[in-house]
Amino acid sequence: MRDLVNIGGDDDARMIPLWSILIATAAFVGVEYYLWLVLPDQRHHPAPPLGFRIYFNLSWGVLASLYFLMIGYVSKDAPRRAMSARFWMLICFVMPGGIGAVLYFLLRQPLISRCPACSTMVQSDFHFCPQCNYQLTANCGNCFRTVRATDQFCTRCGHELAADHMPARLHALRD
Ligand SMILES: [Zn+2]
Ligand SMILES: [Zn+2]
Repeated sequence: MRDLVNIGGDDDARMIPLWSILIATAAFVGVEYYLWLVLPDQRHHPAPPLGFRIYFNLSWGVLASLYFLMIGYVSKDAPRRAMSARFWMLICFVMPGGIGAVLYFLLRQPLISRCPACSTMVQSDFHFCPQCNYQLTANCGNCFRTVRATDQFCTRCGHELAADHMPARLHALRD
């Protein structure tokens, strides 16, 4: 039953690989270096107010680092959904202004995991394993809609969930 905890995928913290954090940090430092030290030397008109410059420069630095964190996230997230990580990392890298990332979130497939009982590949939105009928998510015993493991009553039909005695109800699932 402890295997139930694994359904739904990995920790979000582990979804950003170290290499992308390092590149993101380097990108932030690089952008700040360029904006604070290189760019002012090339400017011929007076510099804008300091407050504006801090806001503007930090925003670009954060944007640049988010860009690489996003690619790192895709590299971890795509394989969990049986999608090509290389293809989507490339899309995210070449599409300007984060369009690749937007496309990725629009088109990504449901999470794939294994049934704890029979190891069949199952999608995260399945309630029961198609091969062995193992209950994969907590759901209402009356209307079979998904419920939270901590709910006492179904939010759709008012069914008392404690009456179900279902394994997924009794063992807390991690969201
Ligand atoms: Zn199964
Ligand atoms: Zn219900």
